[in-house]
Formats: sequence, structure tokens, C-alpha cells
Amino acid sequence: MKRECEIVQDLLFGYQDGTLHEASKDLVEEHLKKCEECRRIFSEMKKDEIEVDKKEEQEQEIDYLKKVNKKMSRKNSLLMVIGTILGIIILLNVGIFVYYYSEAGKVQIYLNDDITQEQIDNIKNSVLKIDENAKFEYYSKEDALNKLKERFGDNKELLSGYGEDNNPLNTYYVLDTNVEKAKDIENILKSMQGVKKITGFYDTNPYIFMFSKFIM
Ligand SMILES: [Zn+2]
Repeated sequence: MKRECEIVQDLLFGYQDGTLHEASKDLVEEHLKKCEECRRIFSEMKKDEIEVDKKEEQEQEIDYLKKVNKKMSRKNSLLMVIGTILGIIILLNVGIFVYYYSEAGKVQIYLNDDITQEQIDNIKNSVLKIDENAKFEYYSKEDALNKLKERFGDNKELLSGYGEDNNPLNTYYVLDTNVEKAKDIENILKSMQGVKKITGFYDTNPYIFMFSKFIM
């Protein structure tokens, strides 16, 4: 390698960056005109630089895309959490209302001990006039006592003094109608002969109804 070539090749980086003094720059340019080897080295350097630039540009693009992706996936998971919570709230509400409408239409009709068959028939017919699909489920005094013992659980011996002979509870019907008709049915039945009292949840707010059924 010629001595001048060595000097020029040392200067090529500075020449490429544009940091050479005017005299050195002229020297490099003059030499490149006449030396094929140094021209080749210089063009290799330029190619490398373009590739490095390209690579950097691509890396920046990838970085940017990664950031955008990260932001989006953070946004998506936030949306998913919100969606899940909303879904649970909606399902819970649907469940509460479905349960309310299937259960809150149940009315308990307690009967006097001396009720006659005719009075029972009158009661049933009056109900069926308001809701022809209403269903009656009969519970005897003994059923009522057994249910109460069930509810007392561990304390059921408190009821051990009560039996067939001194059962203080009433026979009753559980009437399965719907929430809208239950109020009308109560209004008609409460003044009818043979009916002791009527209880139901049809006036209760669905949320309070749910609360009273499951928490209390
Ligand atoms: Zn040269």
C-alpha cells in the first residue's frame, strides 16, 4: 500500500463525517479521483453506513411498534377487566330479577283451624279467577311444625313441647302466582272466611328480597 493511500484511508472516516479541515478534504478528494483502491474502500464505508442507518431506523420502528403494542395490550386488558365486571353485574341483576319473579310471587295463605271445605273451595275459586294458572301446595299443621323445627336447626328441642295435641301452628297453602297478581289476590282473600292471615314478598324490592333470602 502506498504511503499516500494509508494517510487517505486514515482520513476517510473524518471525510465521511465532514469533520476534516479544508486542506485534508482536498487531499482526500484529489486522491480518490486517481486511486481505485481507496475509492473502493470509501464506497464500502458508505454502503456500511447506509446499512447501519437502515438498521437503526428499523430498530426505532420496532421500538415504536412495541410501545404501541404495550399501550394497546394494557388498554385491552383494562377493557377486559371492565367488561368482565360489567358482565358479572348484569348477570347478577338478571339472576336477581329472574329469582325474584319466580319466588316473590309465592303467597302463604294461613287457614283457620275450623275452616270448612266450602270456604276452601271459595278461596281457591277466587284465586283462580285472578290467576287461572295459580298453583296451590298444601301444608298440614304437622308439616308446618316440622318445617319450623327444620328452621330452628340445633335449637329444635325448644319446640319439643309441641306435638299433635297442642300444635299451635296453622295449616296453610303456598300459592304460586306471579308478583303482579299477588297483591290483588291478597286484597280479595284477606276478608274471606277461613283465612287467618296472608304473607308474601310481592311488595318487596327485588334486591331486599334476595338479601333477606340468602343473607338472613
Ligand atoms: Zn489510494
